[in-house]
Amino acid sequence: VPQNNEKLQESPCIFALTPRQVELIRNSRELQPGVKSVQVVLRICYTDTSSPQEDQYPPNIAVKVNHSYCSVPGYYPSNKPGVEPKRPCRPINLTHLMYLSAATNRITVTWGNYGKSYSVGLYLVRQMTSAELLQRLKTIGIKHPELCKALVKEKLRLDPDSEIATTGVRVSLICPLVKMRLSVPCRAETCAHLQCFDAVFYLQMNEKKPTWMCPVCDKPAPYDQLIIDGLLSKILTECEDADEIEYLVDGSWCPIRAEKERSCSPQCPILVLGE
Ligand SMILES: [Zn+2]
Ligand SMILES: [Zn+2]
Repeated sequence: VPQNNEKLQESPCIFALTPRQVELIRNSRELQPGVKSVQVVLRICYTDTSSPQEDQYPPNIAVKVNHSYCSVPGYYPSNKPGVEPKRPCRPINLTHLMYLSAATNRITVTWGNYGKSYSVGLYLVRQMTSAELLQRLKTIGIKHPELCKALVKEKLRLDPDSEIATTGVRVSLICPLVKMRLSVPCRAETCAHLQCFDAVFYLQMNEKKPTWMCPVCDKPAPYDQLIIDGLLSKILTECEDADEIEYLVDGSWCPIRAEKERSCSPQCPILVLGE
């Protein structure tokens, strides 16, 4: 198919690692046999400086490192000309094919030029496991219960027309991802809802297939936007016999235990936090 082949371009890149970089890679632990946690990765995206870009491989991509072709994760070669690989496109780990010395490495990206412009970058990264990311989130990402309570009040005040918001808003204590009780209640700072999903499973799922989409609202929920809901964490320990709670306009909450208790009457026990 000569017409197709004419579109194929080769973009070479030559570079060498510094002794410090070689040392970092060599001394890093193995995530699995042959895969170091410190890696040299290739990332490709559209050349568009107007906004942050997601990884996007060009059509017909092939990556050669020194004398070997490198597998491109999640990419299946297509016979159709000009078809771009589907997102999410992942960073391409080149480390195992590189010279871990001062020798020069030669990388060649072959790609189909169908009028779009791409930028490539080589990065030295440390790949973290979902367990490491969870630990980090627990260390730096807990939203204080009082801040969460203020958010509850704000949400209920901001939605005066909503039927639910006139009395309160319900939040399930069951993770929508795995239908099990939440252990680490989490959502993105950008999510409009109070409902949480479980950080443990969310991070594990994104480790396998990184989409970083909120399972509640289906909007982007990237790692650096995640928070652990400190108020709901507290509620989960205090309310072990209910699968659902209701937040009230004053920021307090009550458990929803049975059908008859569903309308949140004043007789229903109301536990006020932080008072
Ligand atoms: Zn969301
Ligand atoms: Zn109630």
